Amino acid sequence: MQEKDSSYLNLLFHISELADLVTGSSDLEDFLQLSVDLVAQHFNAPVCSIYLYNKKLTRLTLKATKGLKPEAVNKIRMKPGEGLVGQSFETLSIVREGNATQNPRFKYFAEAGEDPFHSFLCVPIKWGDEKIGVLAVQHRDMDHFDISDERAIKAVVTQVAGSIKNAGLLIELAHTKGGKTVSAPLAFVKGKAATRGYAMGNAVILNQQQKTLLYAPDPAEPVCSKDDFLTAIKKTTRELKALQKTFVRRLPESASLIFTAHFMILSDKNFMGKMEMLIDAGTPPCDAVRKVATQYIGIFSSSPHAYMKEKAQDVEDLSIRILNKLTARQEDRGYEKGNIAIATQVYPSDILKFVSGGIKGIILASGGVTSHVTILARSLQLPLIITEEPELLTLPENTKILMDGEQGNVYINPEKETIALFETRLTTEKQTRSVSMKHQTHTLDNERVTLLANINLLSEMSLARRLKAEGIGLYRSEFPFLIRATFPTEAEQYRIYKKLFDEMPDHPITIRTLDAGGEKTLAYGDGPRETNPELGLRSIRFSLKYKDIFEFQIRAILRAAAGKKQVRIMFPLISSIDEFLEAKQIVRDCMACLSEEQLEFNRDAALGMMVELPSVLETLDEFAREADFFSIGTNDFIQYMLAADRSNKMVADHYIPHHPAVNRGIGKIVAAAVIHGIDVSVCGEMAHEDAYIPFLLGLGIRSLSVDPQFLPRVQQTIMTLNMADTREYAGKMLSQTSVKGARAVLESWKRG
Ligand code: PEP
Ligand code: MG
Repeated sequence: MQEKDSSYLNLLFHISELADLVTGSSDLEDFLQLSVDLVAQHFNAPVCSIYLYNKKLTRLTLKATKGLKPEAVNKIRMKPGEGLVGQSFETLSIVREGNATQNPRFKYFAEAGEDPFHSFLCVPIKWGDEKIGVLAVQHRDMDHFDISDERAIKAVVTQVAGSIKNAGLLIELAHTKGGKTVSAPLAFVKGKAATRGYAMGNAVILNQQQKTLLYAPDPAEPVCSKDDFLTAIKKTTRELKALQKTFVRRLPESASLIFTAHFMILSDKNFMGKMEMLIDAGTPPCDAVRKVATQYIGIFSSSPHAYMKEKAQDVEDLSIRILNKLTARQEDRGYEKGNIAIATQVYPSDILKFVSGGIKGIILASGGVTSHVTILARSLQLPLIITEEPELLTLPENTKILMDGEQGNVYINPEKETIALFETRLTTEKQTRSVSMKHQTHTLDNERVTLLANINLLSEMSLARRLKAEGIGLYRSEFPFLIRATFPTEAEQYRIYKKLFDEMPDHPITIRTLDAGGEKTLAYGDGPRETNPELGLRSIRFSLKYKDIFEFQIRAILRAAAGKKQVRIMFPLISSIDEFLEAKQIVRDCMACLSEEQLEFNRDAALGMMVELPSVLETLDEFAREADFFSIGTNDFIQYMLAADRSNKMVADHYIPHHPAVNRGIGKIVAAAVIHGIDVSVCGEMAHEDAYIPFLLGLGIRSLSVDPQFLPRVQQTIMTLNMADTREYAGKMLSQTSVKGARAVLESWKRG
């Protein structure tokens, strides 16, 4: 300690000298660099960095570093509140972490080379009331910094804050020419990985392109004739038919649905006739398309009905396709093979259009997505990163982008070395994916665990089969409903479910009935807007209100399952015994009708329920007597237990899977199922998390249902466990009364 203190005095002396120096110096970047070098040296810390806040960009930017990669300077940016640095800045408090990587707020910047540093000490830099930035020191050892470091570094920061403020201002000025800020080109953006995987391609800024082509004519547009117009229409029709074919292969449930509206508009005499009339009267074809399209878009988008509003998008999409042909543009709304879409808002139907156009990955420049857009993207193996970086929308079209959906990193014009690194990772990943799975899964001490797959799209069935899923634990039947413009008929649903049963004839198949509403809004659902949709008319409530829709679905399932064994139907978001009994009665009524109609159907389907609501906890025994099985939907269970919206990033810190109430709730559900001898599985995201699998097994769960791509990892995890350890771990988790205590138990398991 003695040694530390004298070294700190030394540091204060040098820094004050430095502060004097900078007032007469113009070498500002050097001043910051010297400061971090000096602090790092005196604190015996391998890393010291200064982040300054840029008001225009509303971001903290790494401005100088000793120890991190120099090329990360000016590239690493974060929002106030983001990561430990952002937290320190926002709350104006010192953040000291002995093992930073374990802090859920920790943001990992691979490109900074910060992997091996555990200890983290951040001190906010402020001048008077003004927040200026953050100084951070890092050390390889855990728990390296103590309270004396905190005090010393605070003293240093107080001394240099004024100079740093000046330096920051002058640096900004130096980058401002003629009143216009010339900020360093955007090279890297840290976002949140919504779906995993890597993708590389050329940027296509969707919203921008639509506007320019449809709403702002290009002065250099070619002069076209009526014949050109008619050819463009033919080409567009051909192109849409070809896209449709791709769909049939990749997304059987949406076959012939996605472009129905396009074809209808193309054959609509009013729409096409108006364009032809204008052209005959001398209007240039491009202008005629624009005029009629914008008229229709205006009418549709002013409709109070959601499904009519969606038509506006279809007209827009179709018109842009026609204009592309007329202006001989090579690209088709930019959906060229290999492109990375950058957008502000995405709907489930957009995802399908992206896929049909060969988009490789999606980056959201701002705004959030519903968790079902995420689930859909994941099913289609489309990397999706959500950022808060509107600057991405200003990138020139065709800018090279590398997406690292593992870390949530977006590299703009990546360097050769970065690309090479990702190519190696991709190869290794492909090799691991080809790992052969065992048919059955056992723990080290030979306890059998059944691994099932969660399926959102029929196209995922082949992966599930290849990865030896022992059945389907959750088929989210809402996707065929979500991706189209009207309710699917009984016949359409029958075809989808039949395919599902036929793909895995000898395995249990669990179909969940429509889980619409909430964030899974149907475009054609025409009810009034709900102020609080997560607590609104959703899921089984929707089905029980619109019984005809529910009955069509039940009939389609029962008919498609004729002659099949191990058919399971489950109802989502059950909140009371009454609801469950009502849903069961509807199944019986449907069976009676099918019998009368002399149609073939399945009479033995097991009827179970998703356990997702805390209200169920008090009547579990009664539920267990009525239900053939329980499936625990942890995604919603956590959301409703903790009143923390699962898609709202503002409350992400409150969505705590290891919360004692969640742990004990799950414990009670499993215990009730075991006592009553009914099957119980977990199909929420928790089922594929390394640290929760042993907890669930320890509670008595023997069946997990996960997205197919997680199956190999989950199997490997289970194979390393032994039951005595999992029981002890589950017992410890259940005995915790605080979030902090539960987190400590979880962390100690992770550390092994
Ligand atoms: C859940 O809530 O855990 C679940 C599996 O259902 P979904 O994610 O579709 O709401
Ligand atoms: Mg759910």
